[in-house]
Amino acid sequence: MRKKIIIGNWKMFKTNTEALKFIKEVDEKIIKNENIIAGVAIPFTALSDANKIAKNLIIAAENVHFEKEGAFTGEISIPMLKDLNIKYVVVGHSERRQMFNDTDEIVNRKVKSLLESNMIPVLCCGESLDIFEAQKTTEFVSRQIEKALNGVSAQDVKNIVIAYEPIWAIGTGKVATPEIAENVIHEIRKKLISLYGDSVAQEILIQYGGSVKPDNIKEILSQSNIDGALIGGASLKAESYLDLVNYSAK
Ligand code: PGA
Repeated sequence: MRKKIIIGNWKMFKTNTEALKFIKEVDEKIIKNENIIAGVAIPFTALSDANKIAKNLIIAAENVHFEKEGAFTGEISIPMLKDLNIKYVVVGHSERRQMFNDTDEIVNRKVKSLLESNMIPVLCCGESLDIFEAQKTTEFVSRQIEKALNGVSAQDVKNIVIAYEPIWAIGTGKVATPEIAENVIHEIRKKLISLYGDSVAQEILIQYGGSVKPDNIKEILSQSNIDGALIGGASLKAESYLDLVNYSAK
C-alpha cells in the first residue's frame, strides 16, 4: 500500500520567527501514523532553524537551482540544501512556471540534479483553465510529466513525488471535484505505466493540490490514485494544518 504524503506549501509567507513558532506548536501535535508523511515546504530563510527543531515534520524547500554552484545571483543550490539536511524540494510549481520562467526543460534539469543528489523532488504539474475547458487536460499534463522525467531511470523515478495541481484551483477556492482529481491522477499513473511499467508506476506517490482544506481533504484522499495533498493557504495556520495532517484520526 502506498503511503499518504501531505505537504504544506507556504510560498512567500512567514519570517523565520513566525516559522519557528508554527513548527514548535505543530510538531508535537502531529498524531503519529506510519502511513502518513507530513511536511511543510517553507522559505529558504527559515529552513535551517526549522529543520533543527522539527522532529515529526519534514521540512522541505520550495525551489532550487539545477547547477551545483556558479554565478547565479540570488539562487540556492542543492549542496546548500543538503548541508541543512533538507531532502524534499518542490519543483515546477505553477507559480514558478508562470512568473519565473521555469520551463519544462529547466524543471527536468532540476529533477535530474535532485535525484543525482539522492534528494526527493516534489514535481508539480497542472493545466490552466483554458486547457481544462478545452478538455485537453490529460494530453497537457501527460506531456508535462513526460518532459519533466526525460532521462530519469525507473530506479530513480520511485524517489519522486508528483503533485497534480490544476492552476484554476490554486488559491481560488475552486477545488477540483474528487472525481476530476482522481481521473487526471489516474491518467498520470497510466502515463507512468507506459514510461516505466506497472510495478514502478504503482509505487510512485501522486498528490493533488488546489484549495485543499480540512473539510475536503478526507474525501479527496479517499480516491484510490490520490496519495496525498500539496496545500497552500490552508497550511499556514497551525490549527488548520493539524486538521489536515491528522485528517485520518478525525
Ligand atoms: P492552495 O495552493 O492550497 O492555496 O490552493 C496550493 C499550491 O499552490 O500548492
